[in-house]
Amino acid sequence: MYDGDIASVLITEQEISDKVTELAKQVADDHPEGDSDLVLITVLKGAVMFMADLARALPVPVQLEFMAVSSYGSSTSSSGVVRILKDLDRDIADRNVVIVEDIIDSGLTLSWLLKNLQSRKPRSLEVCTLLRKPDAVKVEVPVKYVGFDIPNEFVVGYGLDYAERYRDLPYIGTLDPKVYSS
Ligand code: 5GP
Ligand code: MG
Ligand code: MG
Repeated sequence: MYDGDIASVLITEQEISDKVTELAKQVADDHPEGDSDLVLITVLKGAVMFMADLARALPVPVQLEFMAVSSYGSSTSSSGVVRILKDLDRDIADRNVVIVEDIIDSGLTLSWLLKNLQSRKPRSLEVCTLLRKPDAVKVEVPVKYVGFDIPNEFVVGYGLDYAERYRDLPYIGTLDPKVYSS
């Protein structure tokens, strides 16, 4: 599949699976089954694979919510100016909420999202991201759960796209430069 497009595999399917199990344990330790179910919020579309696997690895009941946002900027970088295309279906007031992210780069979108969701008065609000790039430390975004810290390279697979392609790869890899230039 995608013959010759992938330059290298950065994180294998097995490594992702082991990490999801580990992250699920951390989240569950902090959120034991309580009077209301934990709410996982995912911003479409990059984190859907991660959310699907994390939700099934979590030994506590979770409810799934999706948001769609568009950030003004190019397709590979964000500006932090965000518009909501699809909002949550339910109120999160007084709920324990975990935002499930695919990757944090500049952190601008996430920083906006945290402010927006915080204003809805959840009982708790944490962030769980599969990947984090080095620039993410520059902005003040409290991220409690991090899967992998990766180098400053553009990656695809396991939900992450380039021009809407490669989301269906089961691993995370880098693209061959010929893909960008074609
Ligand atoms: P931030 O607001 O943190 O700069 O941007 C995060 C978003 O940018 C991610 O949700 C993702 O859509 C996109 N992004 C950032 N780095 C990468 C990358 O290496 N690969 C892909 N496919 N998307 C990325
Ligand atoms: Mg994201
Ligand atoms: Mg994208």
